[in-house]
Amino acid sequence: MPDLDNLEPLHQQGLADYHCHCDYSIDAHGAIDEYCRAALSRGLVEVVFTTHYDATPTMTPDDAVIRVSERLVPATPENLKPYVDEVLAAAERYYPLGLSVKLGLEFGWYRGCDDVVARLRNMYPFEYLLCGIHELDGKCFSCSGCYPKCFPDYTVEQVVERYVTQVEKAARSGLFHTIAHLDYLRKYGEPYYGERLNQLILEQSGRMFAALRESGTVLEVNTSALRRNSTDYYPRIVLVNAARKAGVDVRYLGSDAHAPEQVGFDFDTAAPLASISTQAWCEDTD
Ligand SMILES: [Zn+2]
Ligand SMILES: [Zn+2]
Repeated sequence: MPDLDNLEPLHQQGLADYHCHCDYSIDAHGAIDEYCRAALSRGLVEVVFTTHYDATPTMTPDDAVIRVSERLVPATPENLKPYVDEVLAAAERYYPLGLSVKLGLEFGWYRGCDDVVARLRNMYPFEYLLCGIHELDGKCFSCSGCYPKCFPDYTVEQVVERYVTQVEKAARSGLFHTIAHLDYLRKYGEPYYGERLNQLILEQSGRMFAALRESGTVLEVNTSALRRNSTDYYPRIVLVNAARKAGVDVRYLGSDAHAPEQVGFDFDTAAPLASISTQAWCEDTD
């Protein structure tokens, strides 16, 4: 583990990381306090915790879990309370040190999730809800063990059509501030289908961008792809530029950090792609 209090500082001032996991996410490690220390030493002014909340009804009980005090427990609104309490406590502790800490969540979208999202928003004072689209028709496309079950069921045209439709629905639901890692489909989809997948996503992006613009949903610039053998972000820069041209709000940078030292990853380079703002979206969309 690197020395979290002495990480290389970013050159740009005033940057904020709107997508950080912590050890409440089963695929991440590092305590909330460690992410905050890393954010301070990198010179960020704000860090937003967005632990995974994946509870698609088709998931097995082994997958729909969060980690609390080293134990895996079902992902339910009630079981999220220790996470909420810990982030809010960190916000109190780090504010005097010059770091804004915000309570967020990466909600794994599925058809019919509206009631659960509304319940979570009623129970806890979330300042940021990030929509993560990780599956198609209840089948995961986001991890190496799952995608062979998903992609063989679709032609490349079908997979892009389903994905684009899900992004549209998620944006138009008005439940989320931001769509996370748009075109994440390409992580395993591109090796499977080839470059045609990216071409089709670009060709159909107008539908997604209209939904984002009309619903006031923000598009995230997610730098994590660079940690995973890609030379581009999620979404690809060509899509970020097309989104801006279409009038979509591209405001938040997210490292999608799953380890404390990944906070603010590649933000010096990515910052010009986003209109820099440290102001969380906190209107009520109900
Ligand atoms: Zn995600
Ligand atoms: Zn994430």
